Amino acid sequence: MKNSYVQRVYAEAVARNPGESEFHQALREVLESLESIIEQHPEYEREGILERFVEPERMITFQVPWTDDSGKLRVNRGFRVQFNSAIGPYKGGLRFHPTVNASVMKFLGFEQTLKNSLTTLPMGGGKGGSDFDPHGRSDGEIKRFCQSFMTELYRHIGPNTDVPAGDIGVGAREVGYLFGQYKRIVGAFEGGVLTGKGIPYGGSLARTEATGYGICYYTSEMLRALLNTDFVGKTVVISGSGNVAIFAAEKAMALGARVVAMSDSNGYVYDPEGIKLDVVKELKLKKRARIREYAPAVPGSEYHEGCKGIWGVKCDIALPCATQNELDGEGAEKLLANGVKLVCEGANMPCTPEAVETFRKAGIPFGPAKAANAGGVSVSGLEMSQNSQRLSWSFEEVDARLQGIMKGIFAACMAAAEEVGKPGDLVVGANVAGFKKVAEAMLAQG
Ligand code: NDP
Repeated sequence: MKNSYVQRVYAEAVARNPGESEFHQALREVLESLESIIEQHPEYEREGILERFVEPERMITFQVPWTDDSGKLRVNRGFRVQFNSAIGPYKGGLRFHPTVNASVMKFLGFEQTLKNSLTTLPMGGGKGGSDFDPHGRSDGEIKRFCQSFMTELYRHIGPNTDVPAGDIGVGAREVGYLFGQYKRIVGAFEGGVLTGKGIPYGGSLARTEATGYGICYYTSEMLRALLNTDFVGKTVVISGSGNVAIFAAEKAMALGARVVAMSDSNGYVYDPEGIKLDVVKELKLKKRARIREYAPAVPGSEYHEGCKGIWGVKCDIALPCATQNELDGEGAEKLLANGVKLVCEGANMPCTPEAVETFRKAGIPFGPAKAANAGGVSVSGLEMSQNSQRLSWSFEEVDARLQGIMKGIFAACMAAAEEVGKPGDLVVGANVAGFKKVAEAMLAQG
């Protein structure tokens, strides 16, 4: 960091949020790339734009008491970070995972502000969740937890104020329970208060597929514009086996690629013939089983304990789609040694700063999460539009709009990178393009 204003804002934010390493990491990566645009706009410093940009507008924490199947009362902590509402109501998912804390919530809310700006839809940035671990919990326990969580959250959200959705550990089932409890409390069917809803009660077709498909649409643009090629015949490694990973795999295969490895938090499977996605869907979406069960079901495939080993699998394209900081410098070196040609982030901040630097130095095209995985929130925005118009579009119509949005995001990232003298640097491009709109809106609103 060279600019004194940027340095000061970063140092103050670190001091104000002690020990919050994920939040510091996200702040540093974004602020570093905004230096030239900050220098072009002295009014940003005068109006305190960066100071406001790095400080959540509101951060709510609350107790979530719930009763387990043995009758014991348990308590978790709930969060909602309402980060920035300059360009629209707060919008961002809910994560249920034991690693959820204030740092993870702030990093995700901050990134979401830029991501939502890139979509061109009117959505501000937010994020929420709980340190609740849904693994191994019965359906009744999940339902009681969701109902208790919403019993507090409902007073902070609404179709025009803050619209949550799913994220890690929060899928269609959880969104259903959350929506049912919201409806019970407020006594009205406000479809626009949550996205990722089931199709029978106001969900959008293609929302389930949107993040994964969108990653492949963005990757296709990178392949075309930066490497003059496409997915056909490419070998792909995808970490994770949740919502994002499964539909990224589905679209990569549809576009002609062979996906040879997928993982979960215990380990990864390697299938040289190409992963059989129907088996993964049956295991992970229906049975909520472990990925290790893929190997006995598919002859010729192998299971390896330890999820990081996946980066040692030879591939042309790597799509990390599991969680933050899952691909470190060592993993990046292994991918390079095996001839990887392109890396695109599917999860939020899955690559450590060392990994990003390794790819940058090697000149490997690198797609940042806030641009590449914006397809999910884009279709959430389309779900809000359909709810407010009280109609629903076909799968093809939503998918066509999603493709248009992802192409638009890629073009905006390329143009912004060019504008600040970093042609082809999509990390800088995404940060600058996302920030400019938020900054202009903050300036205009005083
Ligand atoms: P899910 O809960 O559906 O799936 C997460 C997957 O990642 C699971 O397979 C999980 O395995 C696996 N996983 C967790 N930690 C690790 C690890 N250390 N190594 C390997 N695998 C791991 O979540 P989503 O697919 O919805 O989200 C994945 C990422 O994408 C997150 O970063 C999320 O913020 C981001 N994202 C999601 C969007 C969405 O629309 N859902 C939108 C934009 C971003 P296990 O079963 O063992 O826990």
